Amino acid sequence: MTELATPPVEQEQELKRISHWIGGRIVEGESGRSGPVYNPALGRQTGAVDFAAVEEVDRAVQAAKAAFAEWRAVSLSKRTGIFFRIRDLVDQRREDIARILTAEHGKVLSDAKGEVARGLEVIEYCCGIPELLKGGFSEQASTGIDVYSIRQPLGVVAGITPFNFPAMVPMWMWAPAIACGNTFVLKPSEKDPSASLYVAELLQEAGLPDGVFNVVHGDKVAVDAVLEHPDIAAVSFVGSTPIARYVYETGTKRGKRVQALGGAKNHMVVLPDADIDMAADAAVSAAYGSAGERCMAISQVVAVGDAGDRLVEAIQQRLPKIKVGDGMEPDVEMGPLVTREHRDRVASYIDGAREQGADVVADGRETGPDGDGFFLGVSLLDKVTPEMDAYKDEIFGPVLGVTRVDTYDEALRLVNENPYGNGTAIFTRDGGVARQFQFDVQIGMVGINVPIPVPVAYYSFGGWKNSLFGASRWPDPATSKVDLGFPQTR
Ligand code: NAD
Repeated sequence: MTELATPPVEQEQELKRISHWIGGRIVEGESGRSGPVYNPALGRQTGAVDFAAVEEVDRAVQAAKAAFAEWRAVSLSKRTGIFFRIRDLVDQRREDIARILTAEHGKVLSDAKGEVARGLEVIEYCCGIPELLKGGFSEQASTGIDVYSIRQPLGVVAGITPFNFPAMVPMWMWAPAIACGNTFVLKPSEKDPSASLYVAELLQEAGLPDGVFNVVHGDKVAVDAVLEHPDIAAVSFVGSTPIARYVYETGTKRGKRVQALGGAKNHMVVLPDADIDMAADAAVSAAYGSAGERCMAISQVVAVGDAGDRLVEAIQQRLPKIKVGDGMEPDVEMGPLVTREHRDRVASYIDGAREQGADVVADGRETGPDGDGFFLGVSLLDKVTPEMDAYKDEIFGPVLGVTRVDTYDEALRLVNENPYGNGTAIFTRDGGVARQFQFDVQIGMVGINVPIPVPVAYYSFGGWKNSLFGASRWPDPATSKVDLGFPQTR
């Protein structure tokens, strides 16, 4: 295995210090503030990440600003050459990156590799950036006057990212931003920050000039410093809805371009004519893969008519086969949750749903592995109604709710009335109904007999309503397959 500058943390006895990356080198934080980083499968702290003060964010912005003039002048062919080298390095080191992800996030190694593969597709897309950067030209727009438009970089732009995809979501942001000639400041999640530093070193190795890509770690202080910094032209955010709204409102008030992707409550509608085995496989895969910590996870099934009894039975039969444990072990299918607090919060929905009248068909607190890891087995809640907290909230864990309705129209109304609008799916054999659902549903990404309709890199990605602030997107389902892994295209 390649020697890592940031080795897999479980091999270390002492706490690893995780610092910023500014101007092409590690810069230790001076704020005196830091946060714990855990190995969730072991349930112990393995690192401490420096939290940036306002001045440290400014330092990163100044490094990015200083690099901008030179970087935007680099020819497209040279930029493309660097991106091809980045592509090769990420491809060669995908196992190393995946191990870092599993050690800090907890997702199983195969899923972590899937994450890197999907991020790699964005980098590959950026290798063709000259094609996308072509402008437009109209001869004789007015007599003797030609008009042309050109695509120019904005300057210093920033990304603020969530814990659940510590490699892929930053790649959604920095790769296109840098390929287009911008320079970048990344504020990754403080829960699993190491992958960003590893990638920073790869970018340098690929020949990216120092200062073009910078990483500052931290919490609200760092985020606010990004949002208020006068030299940051645009911000891309992915995370929970309240913070997405805050980032959007705060950033745009200061004149920045902001796109902010928020949380989700993805419904899967199952009609009575559906292939129930296929729907059950899909529900299990989409609800429990990555321990439910995916923005495109299915957390709510809406079973129509007599699909309910058959589907709940089929899902229940599949649950004992899911192996929960340390994601580094090859046969494990579901890892722990990211922190103890998050695990306890997710678990609290099980009693909450029971008290509010749901049937607890499977209680994950009874089936998770022993040990100190932040484990929770899979839970299935039946007869969940829209008034219950388990229905209303984005639980973001391995808890699947089933709501029963009598008609397709009731199911559609539930999906459309939900304040989130990230993804949805319908399972049916009726092509006409599927087509009508795609037409009627007010959700950004729609799957027909596909549980996690994640678009591929050359389509835009994003939900509607409270799942995205600042841009509208076109729903484009893509292919998936039934397992607990992150959707792969090859
Ligand atoms: P989060 O909102 O807690 O954190 C996201 C980022 O915001 C982190 O970098 C964090 O440091 C920062 N942050 C947290 N609290 C803040 C505050 N009070 N002020 C300023 N900044 C703050 O989200 P998370 O728990 O890391 O990630 C999970 C969430 O992300 C889920 O809601 C999930 O649905 C969502 N998500 C959405 C998508 C999408 O494409 N829509 C993709 C992945 C994750």
